[in-house]
Amino acid sequence: MQTKKLQIIPLGGLGEFGMNCLAIRWQDDIIVIDAGLMFPESELLGVDIVVPDITYLIENKQHVRAIILTHGHEDHIGGLPWILSELKVPVYATEFTLAYVEGKLEEHQLLDEIDLEEIRPKEKFTLGPFTIEPIRVTHSLVDCVALAIETPAGVIIHTGDFKIDLAPLDDKSFDLHTFAEYGKRGVLALLQDSTNADRKGYTPSEREVIPRLDEIFSQTKKKLFFSCFSSSIYRIRIAMELARKHGRKVAIIGRSMMESTEIAQDLGYIEVPPGLIINPGQLRDYPPEQLLLMISGTQGEPMSALSRAAVDNHKHAKIDPGDTVVLSSRIIPGNEKGIFRVIDHLSRREANVIFDDGHQGLIHVSGHGSQEEMRLLINLVRPKFFIPIHGDYRHLRMHAKLAMETGAVEHAIMMEDGDVLELDKDDARKLDKVTAGRVLIDSGSSIDVVEDLVIRDRRILSEDGVVLAVLAINKKSGKLERAPEVIMRGFGGADITDQAREVVLKTLDGLSSEQKSDYGMVNEKVRVELKRLIQKQTGRRPMIMPVILEI
Ligand SMILES: [Zn+2]
Ligand SMILES: [Zn+2]
Repeated sequence: MQTKKLQIIPLGGLGEFGMNCLAIRWQDDIIVIDAGLMFPESELLGVDIVVPDITYLIENKQHVRAIILTHGHEDHIGGLPWILSELKVPVYATEFTLAYVEGKLEEHQLLDEIDLEEIRPKEKFTLGPFTIEPIRVTHSLVDCVALAIETPAGVIIHTGDFKIDLAPLDDKSFDLHTFAEYGKRGVLALLQDSTNADRKGYTPSEREVIPRLDEIFSQTKKKLFFSCFSSSIYRIRIAMELARKHGRKVAIIGRSMMESTEIAQDLGYIEVPPGLIINPGQLRDYPPEQLLLMISGTQGEPMSALSRAAVDNHKHAKIDPGDTVVLSSRIIPGNEKGIFRVIDHLSRREANVIFDDGHQGLIHVSGHGSQEEMRLLINLVRPKFFIPIHGDYRHLRMHAKLAMETGAVEHAIMMEDGDVLELDKDDARKLDKVTAGRVLIDSGSSIDVVEDLVIRDRRILSEDGVVLAVLAINKKSGKLERAPEVIMRGFGGADITDQAREVVLKTLDGLSSEQKSDYGMVNEKVRVELKRLIQKQTGRRPMIMPVILEI
């Protein structure tokens, strides 16, 4: 006998930041909201991305109707290629989000096999027993929606990521009205973004970075480098408008920044007057005070354009004394080391670096709502059950507490990945957990090489083995103190070990002393070269972990 209850099953994003993925089930119908990835923490050396374990969805393959996306950030769409290679289900998303998805699926040769459906705010669509209405929300990216899902048990609202920006740059306002309408009619459960549950007050509007950035533009006498996430469309738009105002031409450096800007232009989110954007190759035709370089790499990613420019290893982006570099983003915890390494290199080149250290004025605002915005939405929706989503456990907990304090919620329910919450209009209870967890993926290398997805779970790890390359580098001279050691487990032999040692030496020889002092870069280069060798010689894809000892 089938139960007449609704099930909510988070598969990712509850108990961690990233890889958001949540299933909603009524009897034989399942819909999935978001399919995100997570970038690995430094403990997970040798791994490119982390995605949710979707065993539950694979086991229930015939019931999965669709994946619906709230917006185009990687932590919501980045796991799609991996999930869609297992489950060929249609994907529903807004126009802008679909543009990102198309690029991603094309890269993984999945585009022809997957049915992509465009959704629009206020336009309901039906999937089996679910009728879904996308509701416009604001965030750091454009064209983002929350989802109101009518089910036989009642209405579920999933906020996606949001902040309440009452003056968005694209005039596409947060649709408070529709949230209130649902609230009036009665909402069974509200699943709300917890990212900034620890921040008091309101998150400032995207517009509020303009005055300080304007000031930086007028004070900069040489080249201006502006770095933000390639998906921060509003920020890119602001930088381009300021470039125009201050008579600077714009060169876009880095593939993701280029693609993102193109999509935003095509869909009318950024208007670029003719002649504003120049090719990176034209940079030398203009005096420095007439140039803005939009460059990717705010998180100190070792192979990003900014990291390479910082060690004078970029064809077009040259940092000269007196140039200004603005990092218009926050320092994501865990990335401090890489970011400060880049800032250090930039400082060595006598650039003026402006980053979000709390003393630089408002050069960045969060894309997530703070406590007052969370309270406001809860008060409009007044759900029977409140379920905090997106965040570490402590954020979820804080958010649950905040929700109860509003008095507008009957119960706040703490859930984690793999929990199954069964609910009807009166009651909610947790059932046994389903399989959930993290799957580590090594997609080849981070330098624009796309290979087939290879799943790095423990089983494969034990089959393909591990390679450790130990390098003792003298901090002052940048030279190796002794021959590199290569340790292989799971396979090996004197022959391949010798070859590996040679590859490591050759790789290091190919680096300038400044590059050598950038351990993130040494690490990545050694890893890529070893991988190439071992794959060619043995056909294996072991986990490769360079270990650098500073002497
Ligand atoms: Zn987001
Ligand atoms: Zn997110």
